[in-house]
Amino acid sequence: MGRTFRIKVRMRRFKRQHPRIAFAIRSFMIFSATFGGAYGFVTGSRSETSGYDPNAFAIGASFLFALACLGLATLSMRLRFVNRRMRKLAAHNETLIDRNWELKEAEERARSLFEQQGDLIVLRDDQGCITFANDAYCTLAGQARAALVGTRFDFELIEQGNSARESAGTRIHDQKIMTPLGARWIAWREGYVRLDAGQPAELQSVGRDVTDRTETERALSEARDQADAANRAKSRFLAMASHEIRTPLNGIIGMGGLLLDTHLTPEQATYARAVKTSGEALMALIEELLDYSKIEAGKLDLEQRPFALSTLIEDITELLAPRAQAKELEIAAYVDERLPLEVIGDAARLRQVLLNLAGNAIKFTAQGGVALIVEPGIWPNEISFLVRDTGIGIAADAQQRIFREFEQADERVARTYGGTGLGLAISERIVRRMGGRITLTSEPGKGATFEVAIPLAPSQDGAKQAAFPSADLTGKSVLLVAGGIEASLIARRLERWGAQTCVVSDAAVAEALLPERSWHAVLIDRAVGPAAADHLGEAARAHAPQRLVLLTSSSRHDHLSSAFTGFLVKPLRTASLAARLTMTPEVIAPDLAPEPVEPAASGTPAQGLSVLVAEDNEINALLMRSLLTKLGHHVVIAVNGEAALESWLAASSAGMPYDLVLMDIQMPQLDGIEATRRIRAHEATIGGHTPILALTANTLVEDRYACFEAGMNGFLIKPLDRDKLEEALAGLAAARQLAL
Ligand code: ADP
Repeated sequence: MGRTFRIKVRMRRFKRQHPRIAFAIRSFMIFSATFGGAYGFVTGSRSETSGYDPNAFAIGASFLFALACLGLATLSMRLRFVNRRMRKLAAHNETLIDRNWELKEAEERARSLFEQQGDLIVLRDDQGCITFANDAYCTLAGQARAALVGTRFDFELIEQGNSARESAGTRIHDQKIMTPLGARWIAWREGYVRLDAGQPAELQSVGRDVTDRTETERALSEARDQADAANRAKSRFLAMASHEIRTPLNGIIGMGGLLLDTHLTPEQATYARAVKTSGEALMALIEELLDYSKIEAGKLDLEQRPFALSTLIEDITELLAPRAQAKELEIAAYVDERLPLEVIGDAARLRQVLLNLAGNAIKFTAQGGVALIVEPGIWPNEISFLVRDTGIGIAADAQQRIFREFEQADERVARTYGGTGLGLAISERIVRRMGGRITLTSEPGKGATFEVAIPLAPSQDGAKQAAFPSADLTGKSVLLVAGGIEASLIARRLERWGAQTCVVSDAAVAEALLPERSWHAVLIDRAVGPAAADHLGEAARAHAPQRLVLLTSSSRHDHLSSAFTGFLVKPLRTASLAARLTMTPEVIAPDLAPEPVEPAASGTPAQGLSVLVAEDNEINALLMRSLLTKLGHHVVIAVNGEAALESWLAASSAGMPYDLVLMDIQMPQLDGIEATRRIRAHEATIGGHTPILALTANTLVEDRYACFEAGMNGFLIKPLDRDKLEEALAGLAAARQLAL
């Protein structure tokens, strides 16, 4: 079939191509057929032997006629069929012409769209020659399209911006180029396109003029950089100014302290105390302002280190206990044992927030007490710190306001209590920075509860450690004779440990209860009255093997009845309570019995250290000398870094190196950082390592880094008082004694 069709097609093509030859062949064939037929018929009819039979002739002629008719009919049918196909083809042809027309129009439209695009469009072949450039490109180049096509024209590059590649392979980059219209920023999108099958792909670059946007962005970024620099300068200025203020303040506070240690008339002592207190208030204010400016400048860097929750809370309550007890207020803490032992976060900042809240609670409370309660929060890993007081409370309309800077609930009340109104603003920002929130519930006259809820992940190290200190008191009865906030928290703790706790605040009622059952322990708060407590202790001898008295640190050294088997100092440490209650009671005089988990008191070391103090400020130098000498150390003062280095070198070469160098950072000639660097460089050659602590009033993180980078071992923040110094030196002295 296919073969026949091919032959036919060839023949048709031949006919189309050589019509004359085809005509000649056709004429020849018709002539031959007609002539052959006529000749055969005439010759056949004339022949003698043909046996012409008119009947047979008629039959033959009619047969031939029928045959011719059949041929004609077939031809006519075929003609009709061909005509129909021709009409169909003509219709199809017309449709094709229409489509062709439409396509041409669409192409025209697309081309004009392409050419008149506002964006620059240019196509380049694999040699980099332009194959197409739209009107915008030609205008920017200042040349006609015909002049550009076929050339390797490109704009002069002034600046190349960052470039990125999209997943589809498109490259995006910005360029600053020089054009006849001036310098322009163009954002290019470049990718390969294949326009003709069989042809290599071409690089299509579409560029948008982003000069205005880029210039605005640059201006904005420059403005931001300038603002940042100004902010940094402001922080730096504040840090410097506060340093300058702290240095003389340090002198005032320190000298005030020293003055108070001398023999003064009561009047003089009052004045000296006023000087010291005012100095301390000023220092607190400067610190708050510095903190506030740091937070404002977004410079609050939070540490992420593991710390023990209960230690933090117990430290805070112990620190505030003297202040609370001076106002005859109770202060107590409770850390829920479902919480992790150690969590990861910024302990120092959290401590600052809680100290501020608990400090306020003491400040605004006249009766009752303050409780610090730590519980799991409402979200996973969230911890809720509640600071509850029984103070003056806060009116509903002031509850939002007090979190704003320099706002106080009641101006008149604030004047009585003092304060700047910055504490809560700072605390709120710190907590927000930690990803948490502070909320307040309060009713005037009924106290206030501040809740700090922050996410604190448990530390992996803490998970490995033992659980919270606890005592197994299952089924045991404990009688707690105490009132107030602390009693309820101790009772809660004892109940968690399985004890059946009975809390009474009246000593007489407690005495009546004693014979009611056999008590594992009786805890008597000395606040019920010293005589009543001692009497109750005696009465409890027959009913409870453990008889503990609860004391404040100030009443700790009072004479206590021998009826007691031990004592606990308020605010109670959970570990101390657990240890006391699980101990086998020995009947010993409580004033001889050491409290089990009290931190060791730091004292003056047996042998003094030889300390080199590099300090240019005369008063501060005098203060350091007095403080260190009083603590039993030998002091040498150097007035600048140069002198310090010389003194250190002299002592080292004499074979009597200093035990410690206290190095002021800002000194004339050679500053503390450089002096330390040089000392460390000498040590690298001669051996040895003298601990060097920076003495600084600067609390900026970068300054701390600079200290460590220079090789310092730590730093002491001014103003220094005896306790801070003693604490820093105690470890060093102990290490030295061990080494001796
Ligand atoms: P300051 O205490 O230095 O004035 P704060 O920002 O810490 O500044 O506190 C702002 C104000 O909030 C206080 O002046 C006081 O009016 C109110 N306030 C804070 N805590 C308490 C509280 N526990 N009880 C009553 N009022 C409080």
